[in-house]
Amino acid sequence: MNMSKIDQNWRADFPIFAAHPDLAYLDQAATGQYPQTVIDAMNAYMTTANAPVHRGLYKLAYDATNQFEAVRTQVAAFLGAAHAGEIVFTSGTTAAINLVAQSFGPLVVDAGDEIIVSVAEHHSNFLPWRRLAGVRGAHLLIAPVHADGAIDEEWVLAHISRRTRVVALAQETNVSGACLKQARAIADAVHQVGGYFLLDGAQGIAHNNVNVQQLGVDFYAFSGHKIYGPSGIGCLYARAELLLEMPPVTLGGGMISEVGVHNVSWAPAPERFEAGSQNTLGVVGLGAALRYLQPRRQAMTVHCAALTQQTRAALAVIPGLTLYAHPEAAATLSFNLAGVHPHDLATFLDEQGVAVRAGHHCAQPLMTSLGVPAMLRASLGAYTTAVDCERLVTGVQDAAAFFQ
Ligand code: PLP
Repeated sequence: MNMSKIDQNWRADFPIFAAHPDLAYLDQAATGQYPQTVIDAMNAYMTTANAPVHRGLYKLAYDATNQFEAVRTQVAAFLGAAHAGEIVFTSGTTAAINLVAQSFGPLVVDAGDEIIVSVAEHHSNFLPWRRLAGVRGAHLLIAPVHADGAIDEEWVLAHISRRTRVVALAQETNVSGACLKQARAIADAVHQVGGYFLLDGAQGIAHNNVNVQQLGVDFYAFSGHKIYGPSGIGCLYARAELLLEMPPVTLGGGMISEVGVHNVSWAPAPERFEAGSQNTLGVVGLGAALRYLQPRRQAMTVHCAALTQQTRAALAVIPGLTLYAHPEAAATLSFNLAGVHPHDLATFLDEQGVAVRAGHHCAQPLMTSLGVPAMLRASLGAYTTAVDCERLVTGVQDAAAFFQ
């Protein structure tokens, strides 16, 4: 494969590649690698600033609390939220969506109502809604995908009715990498009928400049570990007036105003949703990751998209290879090779130092609709080089010959 040179500057920022110089890490969509600046920020917090947040009455604890809250303000600005009180720290996208489905869902979804998701949703944005629909006696409507892997947004728009209470969709799907094109139109349509719109930004946030107010979303969820931050931390954005109404789901320390034996009053949002000691180290790492990503995101996306396009073209001509990636995917290349189980192919590639994901990608409804049990996914990050992609293509070519 003769891939044209694509200039890239970020690999040196990621110390994992000093430890593993021969690693072609193509699993960014599952979890990203850490730039030194994130490691340094977390290290500095642990070595110089660690203390309980929102609890201690001494300087170190005040400073830790200030750092923690400063990241909330930073996330609000990053997402274009109206103010920091609209940001709830969670353990990730999964926890954020479950919080909305469990707390907000029962307030607005009743028997006979409809919730719209798509067949391409990650289980994290599928199962919470399926359960809510079941518990409330509501209907789960499942939008199909086009042949190119994009969610059928016209189908979504056509199915929004007075019964629609919630529409929950991936901003960018984790299998095809297709991005929603009509998020604002969907938001407007669902608001017109008195419903609510949640965007799962787990993948989309890495490649899109997100402004929740311009998008018109009621809820937005994302995870730190897919944008060069730590795992175990993420955020839910929710419009302030919705958070105000939502009851807490997890009860415990730090989320109350007053507790008696027979009475309790909850703390205001967002603290009401942050029971227990929080992942302060994760929050600090998330803040550093946003500082790293924000000024570079556009250039990184251009870099990933250019490599993805070239790699896609090289994969497409391998006999027996079926691509499931959207033609405009910024960083995702899902595919299968005829006659080779994706797990075998992933193991074969691993032996060449190429790390990819194989499996159902937590999207079994999509796998079923495509008639495959699993597929292989290579996903690119800012640190991905043309050499990594060439090694992937060569590895797949070799596997095609080996397994023949
Ligand atoms: N939604 C999408 C589209 C994802 O890709 C993922 C993770 O792969 C999730 C949700 C869940 O994210 P997390 O595991 O960080 O909670």
